[in-house]
Amino acid sequence: MSTTKYIIVSGGVLSGLGKGIAAASIGHLLSSRLKIIPIKCDGYLNVDPGTMNPFEHGEVFVLDDGGEVDMDFGHYERFLGIRCQSKWNLTMGKVFNMVREKERRGDYLGKTVQYIPHVTDIIKDHIYEIAKEESADLVIVEIGGTVGDIENELFLEAMRQMKEDVGRENIVYVHLTYVPIPHGVNEQKSKPTQQSVNLLKQRGIFPDIIIGRCSEFLTKEIRSKISNFCDVSPEAVITGLDVDDIYEIPIVFEKEGLAEIIHKKLNIYSPPDLRKWKELVDNIRNPKSEIIVAICGKYTKLGDSYASIIESLNHCSAHLGCKIHLRWIETTDLEDASVLDGMDGVIVPGGFGSRGTEGKIEIIRRAREKDIPFLGLCFGLQLAVVEYARNVCHLNGANSTEFDPDTSFPVIDILPEQKDIKEKGGTMRLGAYEAILRKGTMVSRLYNSDVISERHRHRYEVNPEYHKILTDNGLVFSGTSRDGRLVEFIELPELKYFVATQAHPELKSRMEEPSCLFYGFVQASLRSR
Ligand code: GLN
Repeated sequence: MSTTKYIIVSGGVLSGLGKGIAAASIGHLLSSRLKIIPIKCDGYLNVDPGTMNPFEHGEVFVLDDGGEVDMDFGHYERFLGIRCQSKWNLTMGKVFNMVREKERRGDYLGKTVQYIPHVTDIIKDHIYEIAKEESADLVIVEIGGTVGDIENELFLEAMRQMKEDVGRENIVYVHLTYVPIPHGVNEQKSKPTQQSVNLLKQRGIFPDIIIGRCSEFLTKEIRSKISNFCDVSPEAVITGLDVDDIYEIPIVFEKEGLAEIIHKKLNIYSPPDLRKWKELVDNIRNPKSEIIVAICGKYTKLGDSYASIIESLNHCSAHLGCKIHLRWIETTDLEDASVLDGMDGVIVPGGFGSRGTEGKIEIIRRAREKDIPFLGLCFGLQLAVVEYARNVCHLNGANSTEFDPDTSFPVIDILPEQKDIKEKGGTMRLGAYEAILRKGTMVSRLYNSDVISERHRHRYEVNPEYHKILTDNGLVFSGTSRDGRLVEFIELPELKYFVATQAHPELKSRMEEPSCLFYGFVQASLRSR
């Protein structure tokens, strides 16, 4: 019999109800005594989201091992305080690759390869293998999409089969639905939940716990109605409250008694300990100061594209008791960098392609000239170097060869190891890389260390041929790769805060431990107010 316990999280009615945050919050609640491993199953046929546009799929989250994974892994890492592995994101693209490899190797020995059992076996074996490798006490499997979608049928079927393999007492099915309060009716409605649970039951999955996303706490009446129609006990109907800040969800779930229900069903005991967490959430709720931060990008209409940056700022709010108002600046048609007036700080995040770059360069120039705290992330570093080359080093027309291959001053150029790569998927410089920090710089003070590691996702770098002219003109390289070839951090020491990195420090920021580059940036923005 298996010793690992499993929680399967599915969703119904609508997409975007926050299954990832619900799964991460359940994990957080139960994490005091258990080793918890999150797994996410995504029904699409891409091998990973790395080749998808952020408009399609939100932020691409990058792990230490270089895996490009679903953005829910950001929530898992931030709520569970763990480092995830790319293997834990199982897409249908990966599943089909595995099936095809097995078939070509002849592993199926003359059999007709079928969705059931062959595809579902691959899914289950993958999950059991991770549970074993990690000696997990509890595996939380989140099934992407909504019940009834064609693309997640095979994952749901595999989840149904799992109860036979692991024993009904070792698996809990949680279903997240939506409880609307229609305008004019002014009453919580259970029908969408009933219908969604029916769809799940048609697939042989009988949920143990139902989380109803709602703008208010579920009433006694609706709990008993859902309990009655959906065959769960009334205390297993949990409110998934709309909150201003996602970090409140574990607190809501605790109040709703979710941990006790899971303890009882799985026969485990791991009491929630939310003391520190609540203090931090309280700081976000009751800020003592405020700042306005501009974020410049081309996906500014979709907060999901910059999820980790937003969360990194939230982590700073929680520690500094400071409300951070965000102003999204779409730089594509930017006419005048004076939009920065009145801002306490500006972030230029990662990005690809030429659209909006000239606007971002103007924004960076303004930040430098007016001494507005600036944090550049990956593309943000590259554009800060272009700006410095053009306007301080007088290399007119300096640019990145990413969008100006014929520039006379290619200050940003493709990494040598990237030159011959033709395939797009998973081929960037990806994952955790070490940087050596230069003593005495602001960056080394912020990290309080000489050697650090951050995650990367890029193909271009500061061209080594221009290192000398940039540094001779005052740009400080505060961190580089061990051999000094790759510029990992830059700063302008005479300004309040002008720091950029080739890495994505936002990917490792945690509620309990904010990224120090963001922390320094928010502190400087507060001071410069
Ligand atoms: N487009 C740039 C590169 O590939 C920056 C990438 C990024 O910001 N993640 O190097």
